[in-house]
Amino acid sequence: MKRYINNFPTKLNGIDFKTLENSKYSIYGLSEELNLIYVNPAWIHFAQENGGNDTLLENLPLGSSVIKTFYGETIKNFYTKNFMKVLETGKPWRHEYECSSLNKFRQFHQETYPLKNGTGLIVINTITINSPMKDKGRNSLKASGNRYLNDTNFITQCSNCRCTQRVKEPDVWDWVPEWVENMPENSSHSICPICFDYYWKV
Ligand SMILES: [Zn+2]
Repeated sequence: MKRYINNFPTKLNGIDFKTLENSKYSIYGLSEELNLIYVNPAWIHFAQENGGNDTLLENLPLGSSVIKTFYGETIKNFYTKNFMKVLETGKPWRHEYECSSLNKFRQFHQETYPLKNGTGLIVINTITINSPMKDKGRNSLKASGNRYLNDTNFITQCSNCRCTQRVKEPDVWDWVPEWVENMPENSSHSICPICFDYYWKV
């Protein structure tokens, strides 16, 4: 499986390629156009362990836009803006995000470093919390069309915490395990107010 573009190691200019390769953190590299140019073995390992599979790099091949893989306009804009800022200013950027599964509450710390010659980014993801979802005390509700389907027959899931928005009470977002395990085709994505305030407000 090809994990990096041919000239990736020569782009690093000061960062040791072996350091990225041997890291236990999940690391990826982006070009100036924010296209994927590198993933390290830990990234592959994490993806395989957490619902991904061997075809992951086929779905997100080298050279493809990483922004397209984020769900929802808010998050797409958030990452585009902040990644571009790192490229422009040459200053690293740090933030936290949630990426939970059905049974695990997981929070990550992400650091984005500019390559010294300005030709791309290195994005390092560190897991900071990995605890049973049941300890989180999220209100689990059944997947109910009446409660969650809007008039275009779509549900709205938070891109960050993956809770689903109620249609008649839009301020309320519930943990719907069935839709976390299998995201329905008719899903749209937004950010719930708590995630927005905590993670995404710039
Ligand atoms: Zn949320």
